[in-house]
Amino acid sequence: MRLTPLPSDIPEIQSDPRGDMGVDPVTGCEPAALLANEEENDLSIVTPAPEEQTSVPPEAPLIHTIGSLVGITMPFLGLLAAMVYSWQHGWLDWTQLSIMIVGQLLTALGLTLGYHRLLTHRSFSTYYWVRVFWMMMGALALQKSPIEWCATHRKHHALSDKPGDPHTPYDYAPGFINTMKGFWHAHVGWIMTGHIIATDQKRYVPDLLQDPVAVWIHRYWEIVWFPLTFIIPTLVAWGITGTGEGALLGFLWGGCARVFIVQHITFSVNSICHMFGRKEYHSNDESRNNFICGILSAGEGFHNTHHAFPTSARHGLEWWQPDLTWYVIKLHELCGLAWDIKLPSEEQRQRKRIVTQDSQ
Ligand SMILES: [Zn+2]
Ligand SMILES: [Zn+2]
Repeated sequence: MRLTPLPSDIPEIQSDPRGDMGVDPVTGCEPAALLANEEENDLSIVTPAPEEQTSVPPEAPLIHTIGSLVGITMPFLGLLAAMVYSWQHGWLDWTQLSIMIVGQLLTALGLTLGYHRLLTHRSFSTYYWVRVFWMMMGALALQKSPIEWCATHRKHHALSDKPGDPHTPYDYAPGFINTMKGFWHAHVGWIMTGHIIATDQKRYVPDLLQDPVAVWIHRYWEIVWFPLTFIIPTLVAWGITGTGEGALLGFLWGGCARVFIVQHITFSVNSICHMFGRKEYHSNDESRNNFICGILSAGEGFHNTHHAFPTSARHGLEWWQPDLTWYVIKLHELCGLAWDIKLPSEEQRQRKRIVTQDSQ
């Protein structure tokens, strides 16, 4: 059964990353000058099509809107039910907590290490089985298939905070109400639009369309990976406790609550980290480094650094910017499971660093 359509033919990889992305609002420099030393053939920066550069989002079919609403409200309602149930019965024990925390770590890293740094930006190389493992962990985070996630994210980088960016908070006029509208759109509203399904996969992820496991996960995501997200913690809790109540709490805490937390931490990188925080590097957009988001999101909240150096495997480049995903990549390297790890040189960092009055 094939639920998600794929492009019928896969074109040559389009890898000209030096499209006209406008002038950097801080420096007035052309982006080509800022990107001059970055790696050639950087697939993570794709030239957008002219027709994509519009603030009018693609229309979403009803089935997509309904599916997205279920995927976002079900974890929220499950979290509420888990809190009420546990408040009344006091059954959130170490078993449930452990299932939730382990599931959260694995699926969050599936997104940050797998979907984001490995698949989208190719910031390091690894064995195919390691890539498959993290891809599957990402698929269990209830944020769609690797093909859809990475295509949308590469489009975000290509058009960051410009017309056509799937989740920029800056599509609205100034003013408090419009700022809140922008925040809501960047956080969760954009998911209801047609961006996820309308993004041109042949343009943005030709490499992933040639990855058989990514294609397989993509085809069966709705009927395999969506339910597995909830079935696995339910079965694990049932196996450990041997009771129906234990299984139910496994579903509520290990499934719904865990998905809710990981979802909204990811969403916060799109919303909060394009509005609140510090800009340390020139990046042609409004991305920010937000320390709290950085800790909660396993390093992804150092988002300005990431937009400045998209292929860097490390987002928290300073010792005081904790980046759990980077530490796990380093652990892979120590175990011989990661190589060709990309990091910006000191010279590249200096060239993009924003010099403030304080630091002069
Ligand atoms: Zn961003
Ligand atoms: Zn990225």
